[in-house]
Amino acid sequence: MKVVKFGGSSVANAEQIAKIIDIVTADAARRVVVVSAPGKRHGDDTKVTDLLIALAQTVLEGNDYETALLTVVARYAEIQTDLELPEDITAEIEADLRERIAQRGANEAQFMDTMKASGEDNNAKVIAEAFCKRGAPAVYMNPGDAGMLLSDEFGNAAVLDESFEKLAALQHENCIVIFPGFFGYTQAGEVATFPRGGSDITGAILAAALKAEVYENFTGVDSGYAMDPRIVPTAPAIELMTYR
Ligand code: ASP
Repeated sequence: MKVVKFGGSSVANAEQIAKIIDIVTADAARRVVVVSAPGKRHGDDTKVTDLLIALAQTVLEGNDYETALLTVVARYAEIQTDLELPEDITAEIEADLRERIAQRGANEAQFMDTMKASGEDNNAKVIAEAFCKRGAPAVYMNPGDAGMLLSDEFGNAAVLDESFEKLAALQHENCIVIFPGFFGYTQAGEVATFPRGGSDITGAILAAALKAEVYENFTGVDSGYAMDPRIVPTAPAIELMTYR
């Protein structure tokens, strides 16, 4: 089996999500799909994770956060409408964000992680629905239920060794598993995130735990490049990279 991971730009809107469904269903070995929060739809767009950080900061400063919250909800509403998914999904996401804010405790770093993690968590739920709507049975998997246990260094968490054994049981026979990247739970049951960009780490952990034949990490460019192709558009693609 293969574990596949799609970064933020690959799940930024309905068009991209439709593409990833085609990619996953094109190979029956692709059974576990790790997803990021919606990323940039175009060059000067803002990632949902950054919107969530701004929202959490506004809450922590004690300022009115309504606009910041509705900006996040609007990103999911656009995806839900374009994919023609049931409207209550957007309402559930809004309720989830309000709940995370209402439940906040004294630990600011932990609160920040809870808010950041919602980006991946809610996107995984939306994407699982989108797979089902397109006739590809899929289930959302909560990282806590699956056994993704992390250290309690909020914003910089590391996987705990016991996670690997627990996660080995993850596969779902009849369904593609949609697993939110970037976060797990501490032994005390609190949400904790990896460093920024950490959905890649989730994918690597799952591929190792499940002894996947391949970990496929899809991104917004067609290859690895020796130079940043946004700066040097003629940068040659690296055809083959050895371990050495
Ligand atoms: N969404 C998170 C970030 O922007 C994690 C990720 O995409 O890998 O850092």
